[in-house]
Amino acid sequence: MGHIIAIDGPAGAGKSTIARALAARLGYTYIDTGAMYRAIALWAARQNIALDEAHRIEQLARAADFALPPGRILLNGEDVSESIRTPEISGAASKVAAIGAVRAALVEKQREMAAQANIVMEGRDIGTVVFPAARVKIFLDADASERVRRRSADQPEVPADALARQIAERDARDRGRAESPLVQAPDAVYLDSTGLTPDQVVEEILRIVRTRISNGHSE
Ligand code: C5P
Repeated sequence: MGHIIAIDGPAGAGKSTIARALAARLGYTYIDTGAMYRAIALWAARQNIALDEAHRIEQLARAADFALPPGRILLNGEDVSESIRTPEISGAASKVAAIGAVRAALVEKQREMAAQANIVMEGRDIGTVVFPAARVKIFLDADASERVRRRSADQPEVPADALARQIAERDARDRGRAESPLVQAPDAVYLDSTGLTPDQVVEEILRIVRTRISNGHSE
């Protein structure tokens, strides 16, 4: 197994931007696990499977074939990178993600992806459940208003108050669920990105990576 950098945190904290930039700087593979939950939600919607049909959704999660080239996601060979970014799929993804058997199926795939490469993996349970032994764990956070502002920049077509409500609902569901809730791992570094530029956050994490992986020597 290669080196693993785990980045967890709530919606809009900047995980994707940071994880992608960090992976590029280190030459690691970037894996967005939220995109996997979103892809299962999309597939279920296309099959008209209701979100409370846990067993059928589990079957999709087991059958799904994922490829994650940088910044994209292919589900069963189809590029669904744009289709999974709607507000409907965001909400549905967090419902699908509350099903324990769905998580088990996706966690297994996430562990397989990390078998050979050095990776930066982002999600909600990477440092707590997927890779509890990861050498570097970051819990990336930001003020609620800042997280809404960032999401608004990505989705200008959605009114800000609706976006704020959606994010609050999704975070409450992710933090409150019984299976692998969003929580900071005891050995994760808490990083508040409010008021920091992406570059500043990446530099701070690189500093942590140097201490924890390269033992103080630059790579
Ligand atoms: O990170 P993103 O916002 O794309 O994730 C979509 C949803 O997928 C989250 O709201 C969460 O419910 C779920 N998720 C999860 N565990 C992960 C990654 C995402 O439960 N590791």
